[in-house]
Amino acid sequence: MRINMPEAVSMIIHKLQGAGFEAYSVGGCVRDALLSRVPYDWDITTSATPDRVKELFPRTVDTGIKHGTVTVLVRSESFEVTTYRVDGKYLDGRHPESVSFTRSLKEDLLRRDFTINAMAYNDEDGLVDPYDGEKDLSSGLIRCVGDPLARFGEDALRMLRAIRFAACLSFAIEPETFNAISKLAPSIKAVSPERICAELSKLLTSDNPELIGLLHSTGLAGSIMPGLETVYKNDRSKELLRSLKASYSDKTVRWSVLTHFTGNPRQLMRSLRFDNKTTDSVCLLTEHSDPSCKDLSRKELKRTMAIIGTELVPLWFDHLDALYGKGFSTQLRETTKDILEKEECFLIKDLAITGKDVLALGCPPGARVGKVLNDLLDAVTGSPHLNTKENLSELAKKIIIADHQ
Ligand code: ATP
Ligand code: MG
Repeated sequence: MRINMPEAVSMIIHKLQGAGFEAYSVGGCVRDALLSRVPYDWDITTSATPDRVKELFPRTVDTGIKHGTVTVLVRSESFEVTTYRVDGKYLDGRHPESVSFTRSLKEDLLRRDFTINAMAYNDEDGLVDPYDGEKDLSSGLIRCVGDPLARFGEDALRMLRAIRFAACLSFAIEPETFNAISKLAPSIKAVSPERICAELSKLLTSDNPELIGLLHSTGLAGSIMPGLETVYKNDRSKELLRSLKASYSDKTVRWSVLTHFTGNPRQLMRSLRFDNKTTDSVCLLTEHSDPSCKDLSRKELKRTMAIIGTELVPLWFDHLDALYGKGFSTQLRETTKDILEKEECFLIKDLAITGKDVLALGCPPGARVGKVLNDLLDAVTGSPHLNTKENLSELAKKIIIADHQ
């Protein structure tokens, strides 16, 4: 068994070993390397205390020194080096009250959540796998290290991580682990909305977004996504899961498809502390989810493009295709392409005249200017050839006079 580690990771491990300590790559990177996936980052676990790690490497950052984590900087890359650790009692269902360092790798691996995340590796000792993670990796199983009820009792976030890993790796959740989630589901309330949000987004953008259904079957949805329960009650779950599966793997699209079914997108996104940009985008897409979109005229399409924003329009089509079937938006996509290629105006800023011009034509200052510009835009979206300074000045004069009378 040999894992190809990045040069910097081998260097860090060898330096620690040279100073008389043990050191291994550990956790997600070992799991991903064994699955022939490219690890997102490489974490290192060592018997050296944080002080010793800091002495050995010239450039370090005290990332989580209380929990034993020092970030080692190598050229432009950074690696978390964490001292073998045993977690103290968990009092709040999320954080250990204290942590203490240990000399035993096996003890450090024991505190980790799942068997597939509790493996360590270095070139000298090969794979260190005391809890049979490799076996679960090859059978595609998410299984807690030790007693699942105890492990989820310590840290409720692990329940969501189990479902997220199942979705990201296309794995099943081992039955005892699954039953423990079902039993302890309400304790998910102890987890911060930000952490819930991060896990749900990873789940939704995975290859298996339909596993959001596990939130229902475990009972987690009741606490973190009540709208999902309503989808099940109204017998629309099959439709939701099919749409999610059919959708393009993009965070905005997947959340839009979900909230199309659960309703109240803004409320849900706010409760999960989503950033404003994603929240607004998801709300815009769900507000434009009606199947009648298919029959929008060219002019109506331009109006919708102005509301949604050019950047979001391709995702809007992906959203509609997920809801109503591949090809639903083909005509809309073609018309949009044509509008953009012909540079037809659908935004006030692209009109051939400005607010200043409207004022110069005798419009009283204030809200009236905006109204005239909107009327001009309305005319231009229907008849693109009108978008010249001359035509619009004439038209503006007429609107100003008519408004005056
Ligand atoms: P990914 O980075 O792909 O999300 P990962 O397994 O690397 O997955 P991280 O959150 O980066 O996840 O954590 C690194 C390792 O730390 C995990 O593999 C696991 O061993 C351990 N770990 C992380 N979170 C927990 C937790 N809540 N409880 C127990 N162990 C954890
Ligand atoms: Mg990681």
